Amino acid sequence: MSAGDKDGELARGFQQPFEHFSTQALHVGQDPEQWKSMAVVPPISLSTTFKQRAPGEHAGFEYSRSGNPTRNCLEKAIAALDGAKYSLAFASGLATTMTITHLLKSGDNIICMNDVYGGTNRYFRKVASEMGLETSFVDCSSLQCLDAAIKPNTKLVWIETPTNPMMTVIDIKACAEIVHKHGDIIVAVDNTFMSAYFQRPLALGADICMYSATKYMNGHSDVVMGLASVNRDDLYERLKFLQNALGAVPSPFDCYMCNRGLKTLALRMKQHFKSALVVAQFLEADPRVEKVIFPGLPSHPQYNLMKQQCTGTSGMMAFLIKGGLENAKTFLQNLKLFALAESLGGYESLAEHPAIMTHASVPKKDRKALGLSDTLIRLSVGLEDVVDIIEDLHQALKAAHPNVITPDKQSNKSLHN
Ligand SMILES: *Cc1c(COP(=O)(O)O)cnc(C)c1O
Repeated sequence: MSAGDKDGELARGFQQPFEHFSTQALHVGQDPEQWKSMAVVPPISLSTTFKQRAPGEHAGFEYSRSGNPTRNCLEKAIAALDGAKYSLAFASGLATTMTITHLLKSGDNIICMNDVYGGTNRYFRKVASEMGLETSFVDCSSLQCLDAAIKPNTKLVWIETPTNPMMTVIDIKACAEIVHKHGDIIVAVDNTFMSAYFQRPLALGADICMYSATKYMNGHSDVVMGLASVNRDDLYERLKFLQNALGAVPSPFDCYMCNRGLKTLALRMKQHFKSALVVAQFLEADPRVEKVIFPGLPSHPQYNLMKQQCTGTSGMMAFLIKGGLENAKTFLQNLKLFALAESLGGYESLAEHPAIMTHASVPKKDRKALGLSDTLIRLSVGLEDVVDIIEDLHQALKAAHPNVITPDKQSNKSLHN
């Protein structure tokens, strides 16, 4: 995607990559001069407490929940990658959502995109509601619906784009403009599916950019963590206070791991995008597949919006297999390389059935309205050789539809990357 890179082909029409991204991912917050040892790689600082020279006279750290040197390195790097002034790390994506929700008071209204991560839906519907916060689930891909849903007591608008699992793209800039016309309402964007490499919600007018770092940001399926980046000083002060006061902080080891994951974020995301495009094209041409929903394909209804607001798209896609639930199950049970598992955004390819697995907590009637049908399958295309990825999908589709004759697969050579 950078000059002279043949990946540029793929990114045609998408926004240019963010300047200095890879350099910042490697170096911001990592300066060896901050350590007495001059360690090039930030040490894992496990100490829960820090010595003071005199009461109240400390070297920037007092107690590890309030501030930790390893977490500090990560937070600085994330802020740079989001083009933000500040970033804060939390114990999980949902701990981040919970902490952000504590910016509100009992009696306030939240508007949440109707198609969001199942756990976000559950949190607003079953937990925040018990604390006097009312949530309206609205299709924010319709700006009229969003505008009409804003009430005098609306204090937070929660957007996820592309949505999980229907891959609906929401116009962050247009949403932020409409919401901010109504006054001081916080626009938070869950950027988990895109990572900082492909989308910068703050530059598009959002007030908070949050992540489940468990996914692409860490990228190795071995850390549960959340992040929130902001530019506004007032929001930072309040969230920093809440990070300490609520205490949903990540461990120094997890901060070290995520900080390490960032070092390959750009490389990983480029490859996820490249392989996902090959997979999406393969599925779209396959007679056993009803429909492919991938925002990197021209057939996606919001492909143009995607190209305007992103520098590319990740390995996330959904597709409808022909037939019924049994065909979907047979397909999933026959995958060999793809693991049948929840989660996404790691180096390994994963497949799952949203209606039964990740989105089981969404009420059945809502699932139906959103299009979360029994034949919907979600893929997180990983970093294996794409020839092997296609081969696995092909043989599992064959198991699900043994009588369908398929054209010869593309030659392995043309797929090879
Ligand atoms: C996984 C996920 C979350 C929740 O994050 P955890 O780290 O599992 O708490 C939130 N939003 C999206 C889009 C996710 O995929």
